[in-house]
Amino acid sequence: MGGLLQIGFIASLDRIMSVVDRADHAVVIAGGGPTGLMLAGELALTGIDVLIVERRADQTIDGSRAGGLLPRTIEVLDQRGIAERFIAEGLVYPAHGFGGIAFDISDLPTRHNYVLGLWQSHFERILADWVAELGVPIMRSREVVGYAEEGAGVDVELSDDTSLRAAYLVGCDGGHSLVRKVAGIDFPGLDPSTSWMIAQVEMDEEPEFGFRRDGAGRQHAMNRRAPGEPIGVVLMERHVDHTGDPSLGELSEALVDVYETDFGVHSPTWISRFTDTSRQAASYRRGRVLLAGDAAHVHPPHGGQGMGTGVQDAVNLGWKLAQVVDGTSPESLLDTYHSERHPVGSRVLHNTMAQVALGSPDERHQALRDTMGELLKMDEPRRHIAAMLVALDIHYDLGEGHPLLGRRMPDLDLRTTDGPTRVFTLLHDARPVLLNLGATDGFDISPWASRVRVVDASHEGVWELPVLGEVAAPAAVLIRPDGHVAWAGEFTDPALPRALASWFGAAAPARCSDWENADLPGVDLRHDLFLQPLEDRRASSPPARRRTAAKGAASSARPPGSA
Ligand SMILES: Cc1cc2nc3c(=O)[nH]c(=O)nc-3n(C[C@H](O)[C@H](O)[C@H](O)COP(=O)(O)OP(=O)(O)OC[C@H]3O[C@@H](n4cnc5c(N)ncnc54)[C@H](O)[C@@H]3O)c2cc1C
Repeated sequence: MGGLLQIGFIASLDRIMSVVDRADHAVVIAGGGPTGLMLAGELALTGIDVLIVERRADQTIDGSRAGGLLPRTIEVLDQRGIAERFIAEGLVYPAHGFGGIAFDISDLPTRHNYVLGLWQSHFERILADWVAELGVPIMRSREVVGYAEEGAGVDVELSDDTSLRAAYLVGCDGGHSLVRKVAGIDFPGLDPSTSWMIAQVEMDEEPEFGFRRDGAGRQHAMNRRAPGEPIGVVLMERHVDHTGDPSLGELSEALVDVYETDFGVHSPTWISRFTDTSRQAASYRRGRVLLAGDAAHVHPPHGGQGMGTGVQDAVNLGWKLAQVVDGTSPESLLDTYHSERHPVGSRVLHNTMAQVALGSPDERHQALRDTMGELLKMDEPRRHIAAMLVALDIHYDLGEGHPLLGRRMPDLDLRTTDGPTRVFTLLHDARPVLLNLGATDGFDISPWASRVRVVDASHEGVWELPVLGEVAAPAAVLIRPDGHVAWAGEFTDPALPRALASWFGAAAPARCSDWENADLPGVDLRHDLFLQPLEDRRASSPPARRRTAAKGAASSARPPGSA
């Protein structure tokens, strides 16, 4: 038996050496937009060696993109302790809209019950600063031009004729994702039915701000978000077939068509167009390649959900990928990324299609808008639609149980022996938390103690969830790093060790160092060698191509049956 174990051990070590010897990074991310940056931050927080390859020379974006953040996106930033950075630069709006029908969202049960007006260019700049603080290297002015999955890794080809070896490649490379195309992942959906011109300009005359519906029923809008900012213009076009961005002359003609004057339009900051194309990747994972953000789903910007959905994809994927890379969890954990996030993306596509339909320029759709407007004046439909649009109603299907199960944990005020805190503060380091709110029966957490932090706390007050309203307070809650509840109940519940094992690895020492003196019943490939202390990464300058040392390989192991 000992001989067999030894042979198995040597075989595993060979595998480790063959992967490690050639690997540059545990994870390479194609694309450093909002999704790629957030994913890099999540991985870096857990000590995973990650590198971004970004086509742009810097974080500047031309043309119009996201204009704001919605409550759940602000919450996930709050879970990492960085929300204030964005809030400090944004404008707070207490209302949102569905297909052009405005409604109040200030009674949503969240600390962030508002839309935060913040241009994507600022969002990316602030997020990139955080990622830089975490020491993530970004290879700029380079593109991923291809890849091949080879053995236990991916060879990533770059536009400068170099290549990188990674254990995993994540395509965060936007709607035209090359990674998705090379992976051969289908992108089914709807071709555009409508096109809009969008611009930021100056005008000699004061234009008509607000919405305007023209004689053909098409809706247009103009506003100046803050004094000193350029005027924002959105015009629904007569035709859908266009190539490239419109010129100032075309914008002028379109303004005259709608308003009978172009208001002396001049000095565009940018002029662009978008359509209502709606497509979603059939699969978010193929082997060692994953997709997130616009690479996985594109839809019209109605309701301002795109950037936030990508950021939340990243927060769902980050800790799972980290646990697979460091050997805590088997690869099958990555399948829960698709099974949880694909339905969320699909629902976003669905509601944006409904919003486009609501805006259709004819009398029958006007009747539908009127009807929807009446419904949205009522509290229950308004809260339902609001929670859906701002992603506070997301419910991952984790089976039967407490209403919290699979939903996002509310940011309760807590009392602990270390003083007052909040639930989101406990999640700053992107690690799971077992929150004990008064369960008296003992529970032996020691098999997961290196992975799951136990916090004894009390909370006074009700537990209110979006849409559901008040729910009974559980005695204890197991919170995943993405803020979703993996289990809630009493410590005597046999589902608790099952939840711990399925989300955070088998009941055994998980880290390489914990195994050094263990009497190992078997050995398997682990990737602890991709783990890099945060301080090391902060100290080092971005390496273009770093070879990973094989330290720690000899003690690598994982509990039998966990792979
Ligand atoms: C008009 C408009 C208004 C919008 N309004 C909102 C809003 O209010 N709220 C909201 O949440 N969302 C909004 N969105 C959507 C939002 O802009 C996108 O959903 C968001 O940018 C997606 O982020 P991403 O990181 O997934 O992709 P992207 O932002 O597209 O980033 C992809 C990155 O990958 C890089 N890249 C591409 N290919 C490669 C390659 N081969 N190699 C290396 N790098 C590569 C690109 O340079 C880019 O930096 C709007 C979009 C539009 C068009």
